[in-house]
Amino acid sequence: MAGLRVAVIGAEGRMGRTVCDAVEKADDLELVARLDVGDDIGDLAGAADVGVDFTVPDAAEANVHALLDAGMHAVVGTTGWHDDALQRVRDRLADTPLGVVVAPNFALSAVLAMRFAAQAARWFDSVEVVELHHPEKVDAPSGTAIHTARAIAAARREADVPPGPDATTSGLDGARGASVDGVPVHAVRLRGLVAHEEILLGNPGELLTIRTDSFDRSSFMPGVLLAVRRVVHRRGLTLGLDALLD
Ligand code: NAP
Repeated sequence: MAGLRVAVIGAEGRMGRTVCDAVEKADDLELVARLDVGDDIGDLAGAADVGVDFTVPDAAEANVHALLDAGMHAVVGTTGWHDDALQRVRDRLADTPLGVVVAPNFALSAVLAMRFAAQAARWFDSVEVVELHHPEKVDAPSGTAIHTARAIAAARREADVPPGPDATTSGLDGARGASVDGVPVHAVRLRGLVAHEEILLGNPGELLTIRTDSFDRSSFMPGVLLAVRRVVHRRGLTLGLDALLD
């Protein structure tokens, strides 16, 4: 059976190579092209249905427009998108039957942890987020932890839950973490770790811990393949894997 034809952009990169392997192993998908720096996306016109982009923030937007020009749907894992760039993609999609999925985190466990945390947030007095990563990571806190904290804060606002109790009146800088929309977020950098997050929710006499661990890049593949299979049925821009889970 001929499957969906997939081209990978950034195919020589760490994520790109892993996506190529995952697509090749999927019975319903066919890897038709591996593109990297210097290759012309325009050459894919008529030859592929979906382009998957894992490149660099400076290239991703142009790549998406080139994929759309070539008549292809796009799945984008490259991070660093800002609102203006997303709006340009939305505008470009307005009069086409094509779809684009942009997801900053394709790990199902991380996306579900975020969703469960937002669901639980209104029922607890205190909520704090702890993210733990390898020491090569350059940004802190992680984008996923920021998104998690924002989702928690929005859920608590909506339910009129007051800020978590905290009697701290003096302390060393950073001891209480960064405040993201009022939710404390703590970043740990430790040799041996990969990418982990804990959401701690506390009430008198009880603690709920939601934890997600990514041990390697294979954790992103079920989410990437889900997006590839779903994007061909969705018009317009879809932001985040969460939107594909229902
Ligand atoms: P990487 O190993 O540096 O791979 C990027 C690849 O893209 C490299 O081969 C690079 O080539 C190539 N490239 C750069 N510009 C290009 C262009 N204009 N056209 C085609 N290819 C181009 O990086 P990575 O670790 O795979 O990560 C890639 C992106 O995915 C990053 O933004 C990262 O934050 C993101 N990411 C997202 C998720 C998620 O779940 N959404 C998960 C992990 C990583 P050169 O090396 O020659 O420049």
